[in-house]
Amino acid sequence: MRDFSTQSARPDVAREELDFDVLFVGAGPSNLAGLWRLLDLIEAHNQQPGAKKLEGLTIGLIEKGAEIGDHAFSGAVLDPSALNELVPDFMAKGFPSEGEVTSEEVWMFTERSGFQFPVPPPFLQNHGNHVVSLSKMVRWMAAQIEAREVPGVDVMLLPGFAGMKVLWEAGKVVGVQTADKGVNADGTKKSNFEPGNNLKAKVTIFGEGPRGHLSRELDEVLNLQASSKNPQVYEMGVKEVWEVPEGNIEPGFVLHSTGWPLSDGESGGSWVYAMGANRISIGYVVSLDTKDPFVDAHLILQKFKAHPRIAPMLAGGKMVQYGGKALAIGGWYSMPRLAFAGGMLVGDAAQMVNAARLKGIHLGMKGGMCAADTILSALKENDFSDKSLMRYSKSFMNSWAGNELYKARNFHASIEHGLTPGAALNIGFALATSGWVPGDPMKSHKDASTTQTTEAYYNKKGLKRDDLDWGVKFDGQKTFTKLDDVYLSGVMHDEHQPGHLKITKGDHVCVTCWDEKGAPCTIFCPAQVYEMHPDLNGLVKKVDIAFSNCVHCKTCDIKCPEENVIWTPPEGGGGPKYTLC
Ligand code: SF4
Repeated sequence: MRDFSTQSARPDVAREELDFDVLFVGAGPSNLAGLWRLLDLIEAHNQQPGAKKLEGLTIGLIEKGAEIGDHAFSGAVLDPSALNELVPDFMAKGFPSEGEVTSEEVWMFTERSGFQFPVPPPFLQNHGNHVVSLSKMVRWMAAQIEAREVPGVDVMLLPGFAGMKVLWEAGKVVGVQTADKGVNADGTKKSNFEPGNNLKAKVTIFGEGPRGHLSRELDEVLNLQASSKNPQVYEMGVKEVWEVPEGNIEPGFVLHSTGWPLSDGESGGSWVYAMGANRISIGYVVSLDTKDPFVDAHLILQKFKAHPRIAPMLAGGKMVQYGGKALAIGGWYSMPRLAFAGGMLVGDAAQMVNAARLKGIHLGMKGGMCAADTILSALKENDFSDKSLMRYSKSFMNSWAGNELYKARNFHASIEHGLTPGAALNIGFALATSGWVPGDPMKSHKDASTTQTTEAYYNKKGLKRDDLDWGVKFDGQKTFTKLDDVYLSGVMHDEHQPGHLKITKGDHVCVTCWDEKGAPCTIFCPAQVYEMHPDLNGLVKKVDIAFSNCVHCKTCDIKCPEENVIWTPPEGGGGPKYTLC
């Protein structure tokens, strides 16, 4: 098995063991909804007359960000279905909505104009949904959970702790080991060395988001994709939050577009959402199964802001936050097995995203809630076997969320090469048939496998990205370099720790990739972490990695065409500091 840990195993180090009944890994909306629901269920169960009470329970949640919400990133327009089920009076409880959607536009852009759909396609209709900052939303969820007192249950929310590796016993998941703190770059201990702990649990719920390193370990050991029709696939999204003069954008307005500035054959799209306090969320996603070795969501976003329909909304404004993240878009046919002895997968880690709607928060939350239903039964029966926990999979697949994913099952594969006439026909078929299209199930392709050489894609061997004019000048006012932008992600890592981006096959693989494909990691990374520098003889011999800029988007782990990068967690607490994303 490959090693998904940043740190050495350190068998000599004594580790404290902490026991939980239930352990959630990751403080995204899926896990927080699962924890919230579990508390509701335990409370209701214990109040039933004659029920055998569940008492003395310990439930933990670890999160690699320094604070819950720091690493939460999304567009986002929230479909409130799951939130309504979980907490019907969410607005009365101070839910941080940025406003309900009241007007919307959907466009197919050309460089100077475009075609506006007279009525948004059904899957992009958002009236009544809520614009949110996911970072604010999960902070609110965590605060609500922390304020609760459920008799018989001790809840521990533990930000600043990264899960380093899965703990196994006899083929069963029994928890996670957290990362050591206070380790030098060469692996030696600093004076403030603190060994990671072994957090043991009867059931562990993995909600790490897209391409979690623990989820990868689980898949390698348990072959969780064995029955999946398609591999797990992703888009890469970047986003800026702007503060603009009053009147630039109507409250409740949202816009989606595709077309320009994507190249022919590329799939993706934009969003512009009015937030509260005269802020705008503006972003772009691009599919990572593109053949283009020079795909760069950040550059696409910089170009996009100049479109005549978009530029006036930003006029006179100021960019205040930036971030990037991969998102899972495979959906139904890419989902892994959801449960196994001692563990479950929820949210993006389980591809619970509807690519057609560009939405997954509500699906992930429903996943967490279905997981909680099964956990309650497992706690009552003291049975955390594969068979017991697989009830979660069945209940999710049979829920409205599973039904929604099923209907969108061919969407991503249909638009793999953009909004072509064939793709439009398939979308029409799918709308008429609850998701069936000719060729169902359509095949998706592993993102790392699709990148072509510059010779194949641009018809020029040895071409480098800077050899081409991309039509963007970075002025620091409306258009920003990656380094300007990443400064506003708040990213920070202690530089004196082992690098968390592992080159697994050697630098020579990167050098060949530079020669043949122009080193796509130096282009798609939204934080300019990877650079290829010639030595004194003009030869490029290795890739330089400025890991302290990494915003944990996971794109390099997904899209490196040589599969030469593994993203592993840095010391807990490092990474971006999102407050508006
Ligand atoms: Fe994303 Fe990788 Fe760049 Fe980090 S180094 S920001 S995970 S592409």
